[in-house]
Amino acid sequence: MKAEVEARRASQADDRARRRTIYEGKAKILYEGPEPGTLIQHFKDDTTAFDAEKRAVLEGKGVINSRISEFVMRRLNAVGVQNHFIERLSPTEQLIREVEIIPLEVVCRNIAAGSLSQRFGLPEGQPLPRALIEFYLKDDRLHDPMVAEEHIAAFDWASPQEIADIRAVTLKVNDELRGVFGAVGITLVDFKLEFGRVREGDVSRIILADEISPDSCRLWDSASRKKLDKDRFRRDLGDVVESYTEVARRLGVM
Ligand code: UDP
Repeated sequence: MKAEVEARRASQADDRARRRTIYEGKAKILYEGPEPGTLIQHFKDDTTAFDAEKRAVLEGKGVINSRISEFVMRRLNAVGVQNHFIERLSPTEQLIREVEIIPLEVVCRNIAAGSLSQRFGLPEGQPLPRALIEFYLKDDRLHDPMVAEEHIAAFDWASPQEIADIRAVTLKVNDELRGVFGAVGITLVDFKLEFGRVREGDVSRIILADEISPDSCRLWDSASRKKLDKDRFRRDLGDVVESYTEVARRLGVM
């Protein structure tokens, strides 16, 4: 079994070596795809936090996140949230649609945690009066600063219409995912989305891109409030991969 896994990994690595790398991020690599307009998204086992000051390789994380993200993207597609996922190519690789990434991290929150708790002195776990959407500029050098719509419009990172669309899609994703996770006893505290533009003739529209996984969401066991997400890594709580696996198991994808 181990030999088979090793052989599969080696052959995937060979395939990848032949493909041109388009972009390498902290937890993912994008390779050129088999056809124009497509890419291959590879989920790495690497994890980082605090602007990559803290790093680790978590064996098995890539497979689990790929599966969870696939499940979520398929679900979203089924309720009309268009996204870049096309199909699974291997346990850690997905065929995706190529998009022009909008340089924003879109965070949606239901419950206070993380940087929101810090910024406003809100106790972690305090429910918010309504879902909050925040925008951060995707720029590691600047530590992803929070930005206002005023900045987004002035610097033309996205048009006012795109921002309106992004808000509407984000709220729809929130509603859907609260239901999906809630049904398996998991509370969706907050999450981060990324969007990209696709052009069809003269018109361009935005679709959901990147990944949705315990690396990009805060997920708590609804009964015990146990953290089942990347905060286990950020805060040295242990059992990181075990907790991600628990999320996958409850969703029925592992
Ligand atoms: N998040 C992310 N990537 C980032 C920053 C945040 O996926 O670069 C996610 C994070 O996992 C959480 C949500 O966005 O689910 C809100 O994160 P927050 O602003 O509280 O920042 P953090 O506490 O992660 O620094």
